[in-house]
Amino acid sequence: MSVSPPGPRGFSVVVAKLTSFCNLDCDYCYMFNLADTSQAALPNMMSSVTAQRLVSRIAEYDGQRGGGHRYQLVLHGGEPSLWPMGHFRDLGHAIDAARASGVAIDVGIQSNGLRPFSDEFIGWLRAMGAHMGVSLDGPRHLNDAHRVDRRGRGSYDRVLRSIGDLVTRGGGDILGGFLCVMDPSIDPVEFLDWIEQLPVTRVDLLWPIEYTPEHPPWGDAADEGAYRQRPRYGTWLTDVFFEWIRRDDPSVRIRLFDSVIGLFLGGHGHPDSLVNDAIPLFGVDTDGTYCYPDYFRVAGDSAARTDRSVHTHAVCELHTDAVFGDLLALDALLPTECGPCRFRAQCGGGFLPGRIRSSPLGVSTRPSVLCWDELAFFAAVEAVVHRFAPGREGEGDPRLRRRKTCGSVEVRVGVRPSRGEAVTAGDLPVYLGDELVE
Ligand code: SF4
Repeated sequence: MSVSPPGPRGFSVVVAKLTSFCNLDCDYCYMFNLADTSQAALPNMMSSVTAQRLVSRIAEYDGQRGGGHRYQLVLHGGEPSLWPMGHFRDLGHAIDAARASGVAIDVGIQSNGLRPFSDEFIGWLRAMGAHMGVSLDGPRHLNDAHRVDRRGRGSYDRVLRSIGDLVTRGGGDILGGFLCVMDPSIDPVEFLDWIEQLPVTRVDLLWPIEYTPEHPPWGDAADEGAYRQRPRYGTWLTDVFFEWIRRDDPSVRIRLFDSVIGLFLGGHGHPDSLVNDAIPLFGVDTDGTYCYPDYFRVAGDSAARTDRSVHTHAVCELHTDAVFGDLLALDALLPTECGPCRFRAQCGGGFLPGRIRSSPLGVSTRPSVLCWDELAFFAAVEAVVHRFAPGREGEGDPRLRRRKTCGSVEVRVGVRPSRGEAVTAGDLPVYLGDELVE
Protein backbone atom coordinates (compact mmCIF):
# COMPACT_ATOMS: atom_id res chain seq x y z
CA MET A 1 0.00 0.00 0.00
CA SER A 2 1.44 3.33 -0.96
CA VAL A 3 0.58 6.41 1.02
CA SER A 4 1.52 10.06 0.91
CA PRO A 5 4.23 11.20 3.28
CA PRO A 6 2.70 12.31 6.58
CA GLY A 7 2.11 15.97 7.21
CA PRO A 8 3.96 18.00 9.81
CA ARG A 9 2.25 16.12 12.61
CA GLY A 10 3.75 12.69 12.88
CA PHE A 11 4.48 10.01 15.43
CA SER A 12 7.31 10.63 17.86
CA VAL A 13 6.75 8.00 20.57
CA VAL A 14 6.86 4.24 19.98
CA VAL A 15 5.94 1.78 22.73
CA ALA A 16 7.43 -1.67 22.11
CA LYS A 17 5.81 -4.53 24.01
CA LEU A 18 8.86 -6.74 24.47
CA THR A 19 6.96 -9.32 26.55
CA SER A 20 3.31 -10.31 26.88
CA PHE A 21 3.81 -11.71 30.38
CA CYS A 22 4.76 -10.26 33.73
CA ASN A 23 6.17 -11.42 37.05
CA LEU A 24 3.55 -9.30 38.85
CA ASP A 25 -0.24 -9.58 38.75
CA CYS A 26 -1.47 -6.07 39.67
CA ASP A 27 -5.25 -6.03 40.03
CA TYR A 28 -5.71 -2.87 37.93
CA CYS A 29 -3.37 -3.93 35.10
CA TYR A 30 -4.86 -2.93 31.74
CA MET A 31 -2.67 -5.48 29.92
CA PHE A 32 -3.91 -8.57 31.73
CA ASN A 33 -6.67 -7.85 34.25
CA LEU A 34 -9.18 -5.50 32.60
CA ALA A 35 -11.19 -5.71 29.37
CA ASP A 36 -8.37 -6.69 27.01
CA THR A 37 -7.53 -10.42 26.82
CA SER A 38 -5.56 -10.22 23.57
CA GLN A 39 -2.17 -10.76 25.25
CA ALA A 40 -3.03 -14.39 26.04
CA ALA A 41 -2.96 -15.32 22.34
CA LEU A 42 0.29 -13.50 21.52
CA PRO A 43 3.88 -14.76 21.59
CA ASN A 44 5.37 -14.52 25.07
CA MET A 45 8.12 -12.30 23.75
CA MET A 46 8.80 -10.08 20.80
CA SER A 47 11.39 -11.82 18.64
CA SER A 48 14.72 -10.17 18.03
CA VAL A 49 13.83 -10.02 14.31
CA THR A 50 10.58 -8.15 15.02
CA ALA A 51 12.31 -5.67 17.32
CA GLN A 52 14.98 -4.95 14.71
CA ARG A 53 12.26 -4.62 12.06
CA LEU A 54 10.56 -2.02 14.24
CA VAL A 55 13.76 0.04 14.42
CA SER A 56 14.12 -0.13 10.64
CA ARG A 57 10.47 1.00 10.30
CA ILE A 58 11.23 4.04 12.48
CA ALA A 59 14.26 4.86 10.29
CA GLU A 60 12.19 4.37 7.14
CA TYR A 61 9.48 6.65 8.54
CA ASP A 62 11.99 9.34 9.40
CA GLY A 63 13.30 9.22 5.84
CA GLN A 64 9.77 9.53 4.42
CA ARG A 65 9.27 12.61 6.57
CA GLY A 66 12.44 14.21 5.27
CA GLY A 67 14.63 13.27 8.24
CA GLY A 68 15.68 15.18 11.30
CA HIS A 69 12.90 14.16 13.67
CA ARG A 70 13.39 12.72 17.16
CA TYR A 71 11.79 9.49 18.35
CA GLN A 72 11.36 8.04 21.78
CA LEU A 73 11.39 4.24 21.87
CA VAL A 74 9.80 3.06 25.12
CA LEU A 75 10.51 -0.56 26.04
CA HIS A 76 7.42 -1.91 27.73
CA GLY A 77 5.54 -5.10 28.49
CA GLY A 78 4.43 -7.06 30.48
CA GLU A 79 7.79 -6.76 32.15
CA PRO A 80 10.44 -5.78 29.59
CA SER A 81 13.46 -6.54 31.78
CA LEU A 82 12.54 -10.26 31.42
CA TRP A 83 13.37 -10.09 27.69
CA PRO A 84 16.53 -12.10 26.91
CA MET A 85 19.82 -10.22 27.17
CA GLY A 86 20.82 -11.46 23.71
CA HIS A 87 17.72 -9.77 22.26
CA PHE A 88 18.70 -6.52 24.00
CA ARG A 89 22.14 -6.74 22.43
CA ASP A 90 20.64 -7.25 18.96
CA LEU A 91 18.24 -4.35 19.51
CA GLY A 92 21.12 -2.17 20.67
CA HIS A 93 23.04 -2.89 17.45
CA ALA A 94 19.97 -1.94 15.38
CA ILE A 95 19.52 1.31 17.33
CA ASP A 96 23.23 2.13 17.01
CA ALA A 97 23.02 1.60 13.24
CA ALA A 98 19.93 3.82 12.96
CA ARG A 99 21.60 6.52 15.03
CA ALA A 100 24.74 6.29 12.90
CA SER A 101 22.60 6.94 9.83
CA GLY A 102 21.24 10.12 11.43
CA VAL A 103 17.99 8.91 13.04
CA ALA A 104 17.59 10.32 16.55
CA ILE A 105 16.19 7.57 18.77
CA ASP A 106 16.02 8.03 22.53
CA VAL A 107 15.41 4.92 24.60
CA GLY A 108 13.33 4.57 27.75
CA ILE A 109 12.14 1.54 29.65
CA GLN A 110 9.24 1.03 32.03
CA SER A 111 9.87 -1.70 34.60
CA ASN A 112 8.19 -3.01 37.72
CA GLY A 113 11.65 -3.25 39.31
CA LEU A 114 10.84 -6.57 40.95
CA ARG A 115 13.83 -8.58 39.73
CA PRO A 116 17.34 -7.27 40.49
CA PHE A 117 19.00 -5.90 37.37
CA SER A 118 22.14 -7.60 36.09
CA ASP A 119 25.36 -5.68 35.51
CA GLU A 120 25.09 -6.44 31.82
CA PHE A 121 21.56 -5.04 31.63
CA ILE A 122 22.56 -1.87 33.50
CA GLY A 123 25.53 -1.51 31.15
CA TRP A 124 23.22 -1.90 28.15
CA LEU A 125 20.86 0.81 29.43
CA ARG A 126 23.81 3.11 30.05
CA ALA A 127 25.26 2.46 26.59
CA MET A 128 21.87 3.29 25.07
CA GLY A 129 21.56 6.45 27.19
CA ALA A 130 18.28 4.99 28.44
CA HIS A 131 16.23 6.12 31.40
CA MET A 132 14.09 3.76 33.41
CA GLY A 133 10.77 4.44 35.08
CA VAL A 134 9.73 2.11 37.89
CA SER A 135 6.11 1.59 38.90
CA LEU A 136 5.39 1.92 42.61
CA ASP A 137 2.11 3.17 44.02
CA GLY A 138 2.96 4.55 47.43
CA PRO A 139 3.85 3.27 50.90
CA ARG A 140 4.09 -0.48 51.39
CA HIS A 141 0.57 -1.18 52.69
CA LEU A 142 -1.03 0.71 49.80
CA ASN A 143 1.28 -0.52 47.06
CA ASP A 144 0.92 -4.11 48.21
CA ALA A 145 -2.87 -3.91 48.22
CA HIS A 146 -2.69 -3.85 44.40
CA ARG A 147 0.81 -4.65 43.16
CA VAL A 148 1.19 -8.33 44.02
CA ASP A 149 2.99 -11.27 42.47
CA ARG A 150 1.31 -14.37 41.08
CA ARG A 151 1.12 -15.87 44.57
CA GLY A 152 -0.59 -12.78 45.93
CA ARG A 153 2.48 -11.54 47.80
CA GLY A 154 3.20 -7.81 47.97
CA SER A 155 6.03 -6.49 45.82
CA TYR A 156 7.12 -3.38 47.75
CA ASP A 157 10.10 -4.72 49.69
CA ARG A 158 11.57 -6.55 46.71
CA VAL A 159 11.24 -3.48 44.46
CA LEU A 160 12.85 -1.18 47.04
CA ARG A 161 15.69 -3.70 47.49
CA SER A 162 16.27 -3.96 43.78
CA ILE A 163 16.21 -0.18 43.26
CA GLY A 164 18.35 0.46 46.33
CA ASP A 165 20.84 -2.03 44.92
CA LEU A 166 20.77 -0.27 41.54
CA VAL A 167 21.53 3.08 43.20
CA THR A 168 24.30 1.56 45.37
CA ARG A 169 25.94 0.19 42.22
CA GLY A 170 25.99 3.69 40.73
CA GLY A 171 22.90 3.30 38.54
CA GLY A 172 20.89 6.14 40.07
CA ASP A 173 21.43 8.21 36.94
CA ILE A 174 19.57 5.59 34.90
CA LEU A 175 16.54 5.80 37.14
CA GLY A 176 14.22 8.45 35.72
CA GLY A 177 11.87 8.09 38.67
CA PHE A 178 8.90 6.26 40.12
CA LEU A 179 5.52 6.19 38.43
CA CYS A 180 2.59 6.27 40.82
CA VAL A 181 -1.04 5.82 39.88
CA MET A 182 -3.03 8.34 41.95
CA ASP A 183 -4.61 6.77 45.02
CA PRO A 184 -6.78 9.20 46.99
CA SER A 185 -6.82 6.83 49.95
CA ILE A 186 -3.24 7.91 50.74
CA ASP A 187 -3.04 10.85 53.12
CA PRO A 188 -1.23 13.65 51.18
CA VAL A 189 1.17 14.29 54.08
CA GLU A 190 2.00 10.59 54.28
CA PHE A 191 2.46 10.53 50.51
CA LEU A 192 5.02 13.36 50.55
CA ASP A 193 6.77 11.80 53.58
CA TRP A 194 7.01 8.59 51.58
CA ILE A 195 8.51 10.27 48.52
CA GLU A 196 11.12 12.01 50.68
CA GLN A 197 12.54 8.70 51.89
CA LEU A 198 12.74 7.00 48.47
CA PRO A 199 16.23 6.24 47.10
CA VAL A 200 15.47 8.66 44.25
CA THR A 201 13.01 11.48 44.99
CA ARG A 202 11.64 11.83 41.46
CA VAL A 203 8.04 10.79 40.94
CA ASP A 204 5.36 11.08 38.31
CA LEU A 205 1.70 10.95 39.20
CA LEU A 206 -0.59 9.20 36.75
CA TRP A 207 -4.33 9.72 36.44
CA PRO A 208 -6.30 6.46 36.71
CA ILE A 209 -7.07 5.03 33.28
CA GLU A 210 -10.09 2.91 34.17
CA TYR A 211 -12.60 5.76 33.94
CA THR A 212 -14.27 6.02 30.53
CA PRO A 213 -17.49 7.64 29.29
CA GLU A 214 -19.21 4.31 30.02
CA HIS A 215 -17.59 4.08 33.48
CA PRO A 216 -17.30 7.58 35.02
CA PRO A 217 -15.79 8.13 38.47
CA TRP A 218 -19.13 9.28 39.93
CA GLY A 219 -20.98 6.03 39.22
CA ASP A 220 -24.66 6.77 38.62
CA ALA A 221 -25.49 9.77 36.44
CA ALA A 222 -27.51 11.25 39.31
CA ASP A 223 -24.32 11.50 41.39
CA GLU A 224 -22.37 13.70 38.97
CA GLY A 225 -23.55 16.93 40.66
CA ALA A 226 -22.17 15.82 44.02
CA TYR A 227 -18.95 14.56 42.43
CA ARG A 228 -18.47 17.91 40.73
CA GLN A 229 -18.52 19.65 44.12
CA ARG A 230 -15.79 17.41 45.49
CA PRO A 231 -14.05 15.42 42.75
CA ARG A 232 -12.18 12.56 44.38
CA TYR A 233 -8.92 12.66 42.40
CA GLY A 234 -8.88 16.42 41.89
CA THR A 235 -9.32 17.10 45.59
CA TRP A 236 -6.58 14.67 46.54
CA LEU A 237 -4.18 15.93 43.87
CA THR A 238 -4.76 19.52 44.98
CA ASP A 239 -3.96 18.58 48.58
CA VAL A 240 -0.76 16.84 47.46
CA PHE A 241 0.18 19.86 45.35
CA PHE A 242 -0.27 22.31 48.23
CA GLU A 243 1.69 20.05 50.55
CA TRP A 244 4.50 19.89 47.97
CA ILE A 245 4.49 23.69 47.67
CA ARG A 246 4.47 24.09 51.46
CA ARG A 247 7.52 21.86 51.87
CA ASP A 248 9.29 23.74 49.13
CA ASP A 249 12.00 21.11 48.77
CA PRO A 250 13.57 21.36 45.29
CA SER A 251 14.99 17.86 45.61
CA VAL A 252 11.48 16.39 45.48
CA ARG A 253 10.47 16.44 41.83
CA ILE A 254 6.93 15.57 40.82
CA ARG A 255 6.83 15.66 37.05
CA LEU A 256 3.13 16.40 36.73
CA PHE A 257 3.51 19.44 38.99
CA ASP A 258 6.65 20.73 37.28
CA SER A 259 5.01 20.29 33.88
CA VAL A 260 1.75 21.99 34.71
CA ILE A 261 3.48 24.96 36.36
CA GLY A 262 5.65 25.25 33.27
CA LEU A 263 2.55 25.26 31.05
CA PHE A 264 0.93 28.04 33.07
CA LEU A 265 4.12 30.06 32.56
CA GLY A 266 4.23 29.50 28.82
CA GLY A 267 6.40 26.38 28.67
CA HIS A 268 5.73 23.54 26.25
CA GLY A 269 7.09 20.26 27.65
CA HIS A 270 4.47 18.01 29.19
CA PRO A 271 3.42 14.40 29.69
CA ASP A 272 0.62 13.08 27.49
CA SER A 273 -1.97 13.61 30.24
CA LEU A 274 -1.73 17.38 29.70
CA VAL A 275 -2.55 19.69 26.78
CA ASN A 276 -4.10 16.88 24.71
CA ASP A 277 -3.65 18.60 21.37
CA ALA A 278 -2.11 15.40 19.96
CA ILE A 279 -1.09 11.95 21.18
CA PRO A 280 1.73 11.14 18.69
CA LEU A 281 2.21 7.57 19.87
CA PHE A 282 1.77 4.07 18.52
CA GLY A 283 2.52 0.74 20.13
CA VAL A 284 3.74 -2.59 18.78
CA ASP A 285 2.62 -5.89 20.31
CA THR A 286 4.97 -8.87 20.66
CA ASP A 287 3.80 -10.28 17.30
CA GLY A 288 4.67 -7.02 15.52
CA THR A 289 1.08 -5.72 15.26
CA TYR A 290 0.76 -1.96 15.50
CA CYS A 291 -1.56 -0.87 18.30
CA TYR A 292 -3.23 2.24 19.61
CA PRO A 293 -1.98 3.73 22.91
CA ASP A 294 -2.56 1.50 25.93
CA TYR A 295 -5.42 3.77 27.00
CA PHE A 296 -7.55 1.92 24.42
CA ARG A 297 -7.06 -1.41 26.18
CA VAL A 298 -9.75 -0.45 28.72
CA ALA A 299 -12.29 0.22 25.94
CA GLY A 300 -12.84 -3.45 25.11
CA ASP A 301 -11.22 -6.75 24.21
CA SER A 302 -8.50 -6.23 21.56
CA ALA A 303 -9.60 -2.60 21.22
CA ALA A 304 -5.99 -1.43 20.97
CA ARG A 305 -5.07 -3.83 18.12
CA THR A 306 -4.95 -2.69 14.49
CA ASP A 307 -4.91 -4.83 11.32
CA ARG A 308 -1.37 -3.68 10.43
CA SER A 309 2.05 -4.99 11.37
CA VAL A 310 5.68 -3.92 11.25
CA HIS A 311 6.27 -6.96 9.02
CA THR A 312 3.85 -5.81 6.33
CA HIS A 313 3.18 -2.09 6.77
CA ALA A 314 5.25 1.07 6.99
CA VAL A 315 4.60 3.45 9.89
CA CYS A 316 3.46 5.95 7.28
CA GLU A 317 0.43 3.76 6.60
CA LEU A 318 -0.88 4.36 10.12
CA HIS A 319 -1.70 7.88 9.03
CA THR A 320 -4.66 6.52 7.04
CA ASP A 321 -6.15 4.88 10.14
CA ALA A 322 -9.11 6.90 11.49
CA VAL A 323 -8.25 6.43 15.18
CA PHE A 324 -4.62 7.45 14.68
CA GLY A 325 -5.92 10.37 12.61
CA ASP A 326 -7.94 11.52 15.63
CA LEU A 327 -5.00 11.07 17.99
CA LEU A 328 -2.62 13.09 15.82
CA ALA A 329 -5.10 15.98 15.60
CA LEU A 330 -6.91 15.85 18.93
CA ASP A 331 -7.16 19.62 19.03
CA ALA A 332 -9.59 19.43 16.11
CA LEU A 333 -11.87 17.41 18.39
CA LEU A 334 -11.87 19.91 21.27
CA PRO A 335 -15.24 19.45 22.97
CA THR A 336 -17.62 22.40 22.58
CA GLU A 337 -17.93 22.61 26.37
CA CYS A 338 -14.16 23.21 26.61
CA GLY A 339 -14.18 26.24 24.28
CA PRO A 340 -14.80 28.82 27.04
CA CYS A 341 -12.77 26.97 29.69
CA ARG A 342 -9.83 29.02 30.94
CA PHE A 343 -7.76 25.84 31.29
CA ARG A 344 -8.26 24.85 27.68
CA ALA A 345 -4.55 25.30 26.83
CA GLN A 346 -3.37 23.13 29.73
CA CYS A 347 -6.11 20.51 29.46
CA GLY A 348 -7.50 20.38 25.91
CA GLY A 349 -10.57 18.29 26.70
CA GLY A 350 -9.06 16.24 29.48
CA PHE A 351 -7.25 12.97 30.09
CA LEU A 352 -7.78 10.80 27.02
CA PRO A 353 -9.10 7.51 28.50
CA GLY A 354 -12.05 9.49 29.86
CA ARG A 355 -12.93 10.38 26.26
CA ILE A 356 -12.47 6.98 24.59
CA ARG A 357 -15.69 5.57 23.22
CA SER A 358 -15.85 1.84 22.66
CA SER A 359 -18.54 1.83 19.96
CA PRO A 360 -17.66 2.93 17.42
CA LEU A 361 -14.09 2.93 18.70
CA GLY A 362 -12.70 6.44 18.80
CA VAL A 363 -12.38 9.69 20.70
CA SER A 364 -15.62 11.25 21.91
CA THR A 365 -16.29 14.96 21.48
CA ARG A 366 -17.37 15.24 25.12
CA PRO A 367 -14.97 16.40 27.84
CA SER A 368 -13.12 13.68 29.70
CA VAL A 369 -15.02 12.17 32.61
CA LEU A 370 -12.09 13.40 34.73
CA CYS A 371 -12.94 17.01 33.80
CA TRP A 372 -14.15 17.94 37.31
CA ASP A 373 -10.96 16.51 38.81
CA GLU A 374 -8.78 18.35 36.32
CA LEU A 375 -10.64 21.62 36.81
CA ALA A 376 -10.02 21.48 40.56
CA PHE A 377 -6.33 20.72 40.10
CA PHE A 378 -5.71 23.38 37.44
CA ALA A 379 -7.47 26.00 39.58
CA ALA A 380 -5.15 25.19 42.47
CA VAL A 381 -2.01 25.42 40.34
CA GLU A 382 -3.20 28.65 38.77
CA ALA A 383 -3.71 30.20 42.23
CA VAL A 384 -0.12 29.43 43.22
CA VAL A 385 1.51 30.34 39.91
CA HIS A 386 -0.25 33.71 39.73
CA ARG A 387 1.15 34.62 43.09
CA PHE A 388 4.78 33.76 42.39
CA ALA A 389 5.33 33.91 38.66
CA PRO A 390 7.94 36.27 37.24
CA GLY A 391 6.28 39.60 36.54
CA ARG A 392 3.58 38.97 39.08
CA GLU A 393 3.13 40.16 42.64
CA GLY A 394 5.80 37.94 44.21
CA GLU A 395 8.43 38.74 41.59
CA GLY A 396 11.64 40.25 42.93
CA ASP A 397 10.82 39.77 46.58
CA PRO A 398 14.25 39.24 48.24
CA ARG A 399 12.67 37.00 50.83
CA LEU A 400 11.79 34.37 48.26
CA ARG A 401 14.15 31.66 49.28
CA ARG A 402 13.69 28.79 46.87
CA ARG A 403 13.73 28.30 43.16
CA LYS A 404 12.04 25.59 41.20
CA THR A 405 12.93 25.11 37.57
CA CYS A 406 10.04 24.03 35.40
CA GLY A 407 11.30 23.34 31.89
CA SER A 408 12.85 26.57 30.70
CA VAL A 409 10.87 28.70 33.12
CA GLU A 410 11.80 29.42 36.68
CA VAL A 411 9.19 29.73 39.39
CA ARG A 412 10.14 31.16 42.72
CA VAL A 413 8.25 30.07 45.75
CA GLY A 414 8.72 30.50 49.44
CA VAL A 415 6.36 28.69 51.69
CA ARG A 416 6.84 27.67 55.29
CA PRO A 417 6.47 23.92 55.73
CA SER A 418 3.36 23.39 57.79
CA ARG A 419 1.84 19.96 57.91
CA GLY A 420 -1.82 19.15 58.17
CA GLU A 421 -3.02 22.70 57.58
CA ALA A 422 -6.29 22.99 55.66
CA VAL A 423 -5.70 25.09 52.57
CA THR A 424 -7.75 25.81 49.49
CA ALA A 425 -6.87 27.56 46.26
CA GLY A 426 -8.89 30.59 47.30
CA ASP A 427 -7.12 31.28 50.60
CA LEU A 428 -3.64 29.79 50.35
CA PRO A 429 -1.63 31.17 53.26
CA VAL A 430 1.86 31.95 52.09
CA TYR A 431 4.85 32.23 54.35
CA LEU A 432 8.30 33.46 53.49
CA GLY A 433 10.61 32.17 56.15
CA ASP A 434 8.49 32.63 59.27
CA GLU A 435 6.71 35.71 58.05
CA LEU A 436 3.11 35.53 56.90
CA VAL A 437 2.88 37.46 53.65
CA GLU A 438 -0.88 37.32 53.21
S1 SF4 B 1 -11.02 21.27 32.51
FE1 SF4 B 1 -12.86 20.29 31.63
S2 SF4 B 1 -13.86 21.96 30.48
FE2 SF4 B 1 -11.72 22.61 30.84
S3 SF4 B 1 -10.57 21.96 28.99
FE3 SF4 B 1 -10.43 20.31 30.57
S4 SF4 B 1 -12.08 18.87 30.08
FE4 SF4 B 1 -12.54 20.82 29.03
